[in-house]
Amino acid sequence: MLLGSHVGMNGKEMFAGSVKEALSYGANTFMVYTGAPQNTRRKSIDELCIPEAHRLMKEGGIETFVVHAPYIINLGNPVNSETYKLAVEFLAIELERTAAMGSDTLILHPGSHVGEGFDAGLEKIISGLNNVLTADTPVNIALETMAGKGSEIGRSFEELAKIYDGVKYNDKLRICFDTCHVNDAGYDIVNHMDDVMDEIDSLLGLKNVAVVHVNDSKNERSAHKDRHENIGFGTIGFYALLRVINYEPFENIPKILETPYIPSPDNKKISYAPYKYEIQMIKSGIFDPMLKEKILLA
Ligand code: FE
Ligand code: FE
Ligand code: ZN
Repeated sequence: MLLGSHVGMNGKEMFAGSVKEALSYGANTFMVYTGAPQNTRRKSIDELCIPEAHRLMKEGGIETFVVHAPYIINLGNPVNSETYKLAVEFLAIELERTAAMGSDTLILHPGSHVGEGFDAGLEKIISGLNNVLTADTPVNIALETMAGKGSEIGRSFEELAKIYDGVKYNDKLRICFDTCHVNDAGYDIVNHMDDVMDEIDSLLGLKNVAVVHVNDSKNERSAHKDRHENIGFGTIGFYALLRVINYEPFENIPKILETPYIPSPDNKKISYAPYKYEIQMIKSGIFDPMLKEKILLA
């Protein structure tokens, strides 16, 4: 099972530090942002400590990892042409960085139409992707299934399929299946997982699912909210998430936790990464209702 979490990349160690963080959780894969997810300030490729990161990965037995593009890339913005142009340029650079770091998958939120309607946003997203993808782009772009908050595009498998339909080199497109987002978008992965998988298979192809984001949700199905909860503590629940994790067609793809840190009850500024404990719990196959307390005591 390829199981890990998102990890940071900062300080002097950069990417090497990301690998160390992943290994400290007992993970055998991970997801990294090439810089802060909220902005486009990036260190140059030769400052990322890539050789050291690769050495640590080899030593620790990590062969696969994925990269996530920053949230501020909005290919769907039909209004502000400057924002859109920056998004396209930055996406092209992120593809280069992803390849330089040694990953073949860049995860992307398709974009938001900022009130101009789905069709206008879709057209922008398609032209943006057609701008950056060529026949020899060495990295695939994994479009993330979105919760449908605000004007987000990608809130259904149909919407993602429309992006596929418009992109010339759509053999470079993949899907990132986010359990919290899919739940919040309205798909019943708790009671009807097989139907949901059949639907994704017929519209997008299960073989195109390249990453799973494993998150519980703070909200009910169809809430269109996108607030992640720790594994087993939300409305999806531990055993439904376990069924997705163990779903056979997903056997060889990375499962990435993006669950919230546990805040200290005494000091709101301090919080603890749950990933080591969630990974252990998932591997054990048994839900631990005291997990958050255990993390705080550790
Ligand atoms: Fe995401
Ligand atoms: Fe996600
Ligand atoms: Zn989310």
